[in-house]
Amino acid sequence: KAFSKMNLNEQLEATLIMTQSEVKGRIDVVRDYDPQLPLVECNIGEINQVFMNMIMNAIQAIREKGTITVTTKQLTTERNVRVEIADTGPGIPSELKHLIFDPFFTTKEVGKGTGLGLAISATIVEKHHGQITVESEKGQGARFIIVLPITQPAT
Ligand code: ADP
Ligand code: MG
Repeated sequence: KAFSKMNLNEQLEATLIMTQSEVKGRIDVVRDYDPQLPLVECNIGEINQVFMNMIMNAIQAIREKGTITVTTKQLTTERNVRVEIADTGPGIPSELKHLIFDPFFTTKEVGKGTGLGLAISATIVEKHHGQITVESEKGQGARFIIVLPITQPAT
């Protein structure tokens, strides 16, 4: 299996650099990286796909100006890390929260969204024995939380 030990702060930074042209000065990006974040055993191609989707969703949610905050934290009690991507966009109405991880669910215009990003992201995170959740109040932005174990069980 293509698991290797990766520095997720560096991977998030690479993803942010790739999306710089979309941000175009209208979005402030706040980095709150845990400098002590341990390396995380993962399939980095897949995890970068998750990061890219979360960050693109946040950019697309912010219609005009806003802030995206990327946070990493070691959860010392469990052998996990937490990655949070929060935005100051419109948030997710509570009646839609249970639908957004479904394949093909999108609120974007035809041609702008496939509705697959969160479904694929959830599949990838679950394959890594992690969890992906969302916290959002309408009008208060959205916060996606990814918890990943530092090591994968031996196979
Ligand atoms: P897509 O981006 O193609 O629409 P996703 O699976 O990535 O598909 O997201 C599904 C839906 O979840 C989006 O269409 C949107 O309604 C909602 N969503 C995802 N991220 C955010 C966010 N950061 N803020 C508000 N709504 C979001
Ligand atoms: Mg998406």
